[in-house]
Amino acid sequence: VKVKGMQLGFTACDLELLAFPHPELVLTARRQMAEKTWYHCPLVSFIIDHPDGLILWETGAAPTAAEEWPEEWQDLVDLSGVTPENSLERKLASQGLGPEDFRYVILGHLHSDHAGGLRLFEDAGATIIVHEDEYRHVTQIEDAADFFVRKDWHFLGGRPPTTVSGDQEILRGVSTVSLPGHTPGTMGLKLELPHTGTLLLTSDALSTHWNYGEPAVGSPINWDDDPWRRSIEKIRRIASAENALLVPGHDLQGFRHEGAAFGLESIRFSPDYVYE
Ligand SMILES: [Zn+2]
Repeated sequence: VKVKGMQLGFTACDLELLAFPHPELVLTARRQMAEKTWYHCPLVSFIIDHPDGLILWETGAAPTAAEEWPEEWQDLVDLSGVTPENSLERKLASQGLGPEDFRYVILGHLHSDHAGGLRLFEDAGATIIVHEDEYRHVTQIEDAADFFVRKDWHFLGGRPPTTVSGDQEILRGVSTVSLPGHTPGTMGLKLELPHTGTLLLTSDALSTHWNYGEPAVGSPINWDDDPWRRSIEKIRRIASAENALLVPGHDLQGFRHEGAAFGLESIRFSPDYVYE
């Protein structure tokens, strides 16, 4: 099994939109002035080259996002780093791949900066996998709400995705991990690799390293804080037990666990590096 990371451009926003209240960022009686951070928020996707088929994990934003996102979102989130050049379609093409090459496309959640490339698979044969709570949630959205954009998954109406309800092995050594809270059906993907060990792709259950703590630091974008906190504890349990490398949804830094202890580790991307 070979795992290749791809960077699909970036959005940019106030770091505190992703991590609040972070003790190093928030103002307090003892620290009444500080700089704000305009965070370049990488959009990432992973190709899992498995003997039983190619899997794509997440799809970044649509290159047409600036035409589709409501104005009030674009006041908060700058989309100028989302371009046709760094779209999923181009990045796959640069590796000689197209949508028809994939057996599975798995979405950690359906926010528009993760599901924007999904429409590329409208006419391809790949099985699209989403958590059932996520799909049920978005079917109620008419156009665009809470960073969900109907155009991203609209085509699935005629061809519903395959849904999973919890932790489930998709192919040998590749399992979904249910991590609700950021959205109703957020999930991660756990990969067991012979050299790297356990790689846990967290989607936005852990958006950035700033959220991990401990204690964990939430975000105003999270749908429900209570299940989100339980999901972070689940990530910690898995990572501690398996010495996992955690890959956040929007960060070039993740964490490597050694038991309960953990330290920052840079996430490496293809073509310079392949996780095996
Ligand atoms: Zn999200």
